[in-house]
Amino acid sequence: MNEYVAKVIAQVKARNPGEPEFHQTVQEVTESLSPVFDTLPRYRNFMIIERIVEPERVIMFRVPWQDDRGNIQINRGYRIEMNSAIGPYKGGLRFHPTVYLGILKFLAFEQVLKNSLTTLPMGGGKGGSDFDPKGKSDNEVMRFCQSFMSELFHHIGPNTDVPAGDIGVGGREIGFLFGQYKRLKNEFTGVLTGKGIDWGGSLIRPEATGYGAVYFAEEMLKTRNDTLQGKTALVSGSGNVAQYTVEKLLDLGAKPITLSDSNGFIHDESGINREKLSFVMDLKNVRRGRIKEYADKFKTSKYYPVDANLGYNPLWNIKAQCAFPSATQNEINAKDAANLLRNGVYVVTEGANMPSTLEATKLFIDRKILYGPAKAANAGGVATSGLEMSQNSLHLSWTREEVDSKLREIMVKIHKNCFETAERFGTPGNLVNGANIAGFLKVADAMIDQGLV
Ligand code: NAP
Repeated sequence: MNEYVAKVIAQVKARNPGEPEFHQTVQEVTESLSPVFDTLPRYRNFMIIERIVEPERVIMFRVPWQDDRGNIQINRGYRIEMNSAIGPYKGGLRFHPTVYLGILKFLAFEQVLKNSLTTLPMGGGKGGSDFDPKGKSDNEVMRFCQSFMSELFHHIGPNTDVPAGDIGVGGREIGFLFGQYKRLKNEFTGVLTGKGIDWGGSLIRPEATGYGAVYFAEEMLKTRNDTLQGKTALVSGSGNVAQYTVEKLLDLGAKPITLSDSNGFIHDESGINREKLSFVMDLKNVRRGRIKEYADKFKTSKYYPVDANLGYNPLWNIKAQCAFPSATQNEINAKDAANLLRNGVYVVTEGANMPSTLEATKLFIDRKILYGPAKAANAGGVATSGLEMSQNSLHLSWTREEVDSKLREIMVKIHKNCFETAERFGTPGNLVNGANIAGFLKVADAMIDQGLV
């Protein structure tokens, strides 16, 4: 490893103790940037990477709320405003019990480079809370969201910071958050994306991350004169990204056969068709049930509960050609990656953020499979959030077809940019390097232009 790169990584680890996910993303990105530091010394001279790893601002606050039994509950809220060199901070809110500073810093750091790849003027941020929406009533979720926004509203705005959804934050939560923002500020602005279609939302935004990931896979396959038609696909998760990944895979003639949640996964050898997908959408988005119910309903499938002692996830040990990890970070470890490769998977497209460990990533790159890293492959969600912001500013609504074709065009451009950047810096086909370098250069140049701020 380049000496300078090793020094930067060591400094980040020392200055941010106890934040392994943040260390992991910084290590991956900084190692990718080695050829940039070797050939273009200005980025090193301006200490750009040392500046990018330090958030511009971190906001952390108490979120008190009352549950349905009248008990007082306290959660912790966060917003990481990571980098605003190329636009207002933009990135989702995550509500999940595992949320802490290190998770949000990793997500915010990834977001900066991802947003840069989208071709749209958006800086990077991320936020959320350790609140767990699972098992809470709609009223409890509303009271929590109102309390959360009562602090967050001081810090965000349509030209400052525009949050969106992420794990545990879907249409319901965005509605409650938006309602409270509007009440406190007495203004109706595009301060959040992922809004309802009747009150400022964009068509295709709910679908965008999943659809975009599949479009990205299609682009990778095109480079080998191949398509998704007839391919068997493993999908993890069963939330927003997983659902629309399955939908677009079906549109393009592939056969998705798995879905999961944090309790286990289902394997449906006959394929998850549209009827089964609509059952999953109702189960997860309306009834808020567990994926096990899929296997109770469809006898073509089998349910496997999580076995934490295994050391690998059997979902990734099924014969297929494609994998779309769409649940959470580090869900594919080295053993899982080896299982995927052994079972014939040669297309891995990351819908989730950083779903592969550093060791897993290395295996995919060494084997030269078609590997679409998260910050490129799942950028369709935030790109469409950017399109929602544009529609809000212009006070108009584009049709479904218009937004979908813009999304597709953006995914094609992101792939092209990553592919060409990887070649330019001497690692053809390595889209991890391509995405990290292309995302970095645009932000870095803007930072140099704007002086030491
Ligand atoms: P979501 O609708 O809340 O769904 C998340 C899914 O992942 C659920 O099935 C959930 O199962 C599972 N999951 C979450 N944490 C888990 C854990 N620790 N272990 C195992 N399973 C877990 O969220 P989403 O929006 O689809 O997000 C999924 C991934 O995509 C995340 O990495 C997110 O950062 C990324 N992403 C999302 C967007 C977007 O537009 N939504 C954009 C870019 C990237 P349970 O219900 O059991 O928790």
